[in-house]
Amino acid sequence: MPELFIGGTWTTAVSGQVREIRCPADGTLAGAVDEGGPKDAAAAVAAARDAFDRGPWPATPAVERGRLLLRVADLLERDRAALARAESLDTGKRLVESEYDMDDIASCFRYFGNLTAAGGTDRIVDTGNPEIDSRVVHEPVGVCVLITPWNYPLLQTAWKVAPALGAGNTFVLKPSELTPHTAILLMRLLTEAGLPGGTANLVLGTGPAVGAPLTEDPRVDMVSFTGGLVTGRRIMAAAAPTVKKVALELGGKNPNVVFADADYEAAVDYALTAVFLHSGQVCSAGARLLVQDELHDAFVEDVVARARVIPLGGPFDEHARTGPLISAAHRDKIEAYVAAGIAEGAVLRCGGARPDDPELRDGYYYLPTVLDECTPEMTVVRDESFGPVLTVERFRDEAEAVLLANDTVYGLSGAVWSQDVGRAHRVAARIRAGTVWINDFQPYVPQAEWGGMKQSGFGRELGPAGLAEYQEAKHVWRNLAPRPQRWFE
Ligand code: NAD
Repeated sequence: MPELFIGGTWTTAVSGQVREIRCPADGTLAGAVDEGGPKDAAAAVAAARDAFDRGPWPATPAVERGRLLLRVADLLERDRAALARAESLDTGKRLVESEYDMDDIASCFRYFGNLTAAGGTDRIVDTGNPEIDSRVVHEPVGVCVLITPWNYPLLQTAWKVAPALGAGNTFVLKPSELTPHTAILLMRLLTEAGLPGGTANLVLGTGPAVGAPLTEDPRVDMVSFTGGLVTGRRIMAAAAPTVKKVALELGGKNPNVVFADADYEAAVDYALTAVFLHSGQVCSAGARLLVQDELHDAFVEDVVARARVIPLGGPFDEHARTGPLISAAHRDKIEAYVAAGIAEGAVLRCGGARPDDPELRDGYYYLPTVLDECTPEMTVVRDESFGPVLTVERFRDEAEAVLLANDTVYGLSGAVWSQDVGRAHRVAARIRAGTVWINDFQPYVPQAEWGGMKQSGFGRELGPAGLAEYQEAKHVWRNLAPRPQRWFE
């Protein structure tokens, strides 16, 4: 069946081309989908523009918009198994992880459903003049282009779609060309929940063929993007001539700072979770381990011993604890980073190769890798490799830990491990990142804002600010007793 969704109708791509999607775990065919292009992008923008300017959604009362999001949450829960399976086939991610993602996605829709239905962000402004009624109301931004990556395809989509709809916008969604299936399923659920045609539009295809024309289109009011830094820069530039609102959720090179007084067992365990979950293909991955000198040798020894035995496997392998990389090209990139790290003086402690298990031969696997004795100027420390590669640096004291933690262009997340509460909070306060965990790594909740500082981007997803991102504040001033002013007499 056709997979582009434009103006409330399922349609095939103008080019007539299709793209095969193969599971990165073993190359099995996950499906073949329509491959859109610039003409499809333009048609989707026209539909979203028309739905915003003439359709019912922006004027639908907030409480009803909220109720629709809550219905979507119910439908996501109903279809959890099918959605998780589709996500795992596209990404190669373990099924159980995709199932957790689906729970988070339903929670995201539920959170924004309740927040929208509660209303209440508008406010009366006291001008000091009783003859003036002055209020600030919040309106939708307009037509939003939502561009998402392949690592958490439906989750990143939900973080945009739920608040964009809650605020009353219409949108065109462009998911990663590598992982389109759950976006297609979401469009069906939005329709089933009763969303008016044209409000939600979906165009599949590559960044250059679909993403770029969407970000340049003058009929678009806002671009919300999650993806890599280089693409983020391009999107900002493409949006500049028409001064679109832009929100960017980019990469990270996140520090995991372990002091000698940390809870040892927990810190070792989370050092692994931080970077090897989903084979490191996580924007908030703790890929830079910073360990206090006196703890370094024993700590790294234990991390390496456990990293060596992490079982790899496909989505349906119940023994696997992490899976493949998304593509051959991505694995090549990670191999080049590890080689560069070793050439620049890092010490390979484990991994650094593809697994030799013949059962994994058809997937894009790469062994959990630890590079010790790293220094801040190494390429593998500076760049986001987005794979299962942990670099280890040493620090002497709190001041040096903070300097090293912040020695990056990124600022997405970070963690500090210490049983000294004062120290933990001092360091957390000085790490320049949108999320900092103390004695933990990776948890998030939809009630709390998510986003980056520095070149990890700007704007926030989730939390009240995640809804405000898709709203414009408008000041409405009413003179209750108009009289001629006679300024020009
Ligand atoms: P990417 O930048 O290659 O692609 C992301 C999306 O942008 C895809 O849909 C792609 O087709 C599209 N795109 C590519 N070129 C474009 C262009 N010129 N114009 C418009 N769209 C274009 O990123 P990726 O490889 O899919 O995802 C991995 C990156 O995403 C990592 O850097 C990761 O850190 C980041 N990420 C960030 C967060 C966050 O919350 N900050 C979350 C997940 C992933």
